[in-house]
Amino acid sequence: MTSVPPPIAMLAELTHRCPLSCPYCSNPIALHGKDTELETDTWARAFDEAAALGVLQLHLSGGEPASRPDLVELTRAAQEAGLYTNLITSGIGLTPKRLDALEEAGLDHIQLSLQGTKAALADRIGGYTGGFDRKMSVAKEISIRGIPLTLNAVMHRQNLDDLDRTIDMAVELGARRLEVACVQFHGWATLNRPALLPTREQTIATKKTVAEAEARLRGTLAFDFVPPDYYSDFPKACMGGWGSTGLNISPDGKVLPCHAAETIEHLSFENIRDKSLYEIWYDSAAFNAYRGTDFLPETCQSCDRLNIDFGGCRCQALAIAGDASATDPVCRKSPDHPKVEALLSEVMANPDDSFTYRKLARTPQ
Ligand code: SF4
Ligand code: SF4
Repeated sequence: MTSVPPPIAMLAELTHRCPLSCPYCSNPIALHGKDTELETDTWARAFDEAAALGVLQLHLSGGEPASRPDLVELTRAAQEAGLYTNLITSGIGLTPKRLDALEEAGLDHIQLSLQGTKAALADRIGGYTGGFDRKMSVAKEISIRGIPLTLNAVMHRQNLDDLDRTIDMAVELGARRLEVACVQFHGWATLNRPALLPTREQTIATKKTVAEAEARLRGTLAFDFVPPDYYSDFPKACMGGWGSTGLNISPDGKVLPCHAAETIEHLSFENIRDKSLYEIWYDSAAFNAYRGTDFLPETCQSCDRLNIDFGGCRCQALAIAGDASATDPVCRKSPDHPKVEALLSEVMANPDDSFTYRKLARTPQ
């Protein structure tokens, strides 16, 4: 397909292992065990191929990427491939010595997740006692080294009321950017919707707080804001359009158009062990399944936002409307929008603050 542009960014999910157990984790419910993970050489080849394909930014993610003993080696391979390399981490496992080695290997940026602004809440959300204090030490070590830092605050009903303090913390920790990422309901978050969905009042207050802080902190702290989309009028432009700007590789080597794509069970995904990234990006059936906008129904075809949001998220369309080619049901024009309203009413009538924590089940041998 010659009209397909090359990807700009690649998310490498190096592992699903993680010391934390966040109930909103975007990893799939069926997590991959260590024995299925790609080896160092295959990742290095994937980075070379990504750069040759046109990828500029590489996000080393997981799970917790620091769980991989070869993280420094992988960072060096990415740097040698010429990729701008961002480490997405909880901070657990990043000792001062390891940070030095990562910096020396050419790491360009760190994105540190934040579960909450106080130890008790943050540790309850992450399911890891002592995690908050360790994260704060890592943040200081990052700041001492001057490594560019984004704080990634994942927000939901149980921590959204702390948004003001979250913003102050980002400034105090020397972050250049704060991602206020309201939970999107994929993976483990779907299981925890009754505990995580914010209220409408919280959503309105959050938008106001972010807008005010953005104006007040211009030049000090940049913001990326992902609002709670169940309350939005229109969907987000998921992945900037399916197979248009980015790709993911799962720990076992599957090449995916987005991190939740495996929930679309009628698609089958090629593996980097078997094919080149070039072949997979341009020719695979999964990447071509929802490229462009031709597959979208008349509701979208006749809409002036067609080339703004591309009909929204395919995984959400399947999860809520039962059809991956449908208009994203969070859109108020979608015939399936009442299903989103029903989900909201159900949760608000029966909120439940208890969590089902993310857990790596033992894979049968
Ligand atoms: S969201 Fe939490 S559990 Fe999932 S990978 Fe990140 S830190 Fe680990
Ligand atoms: S109808 Fe389709 S294109 Fe229009 S706003 Fe809704 S999802 Fe976007």
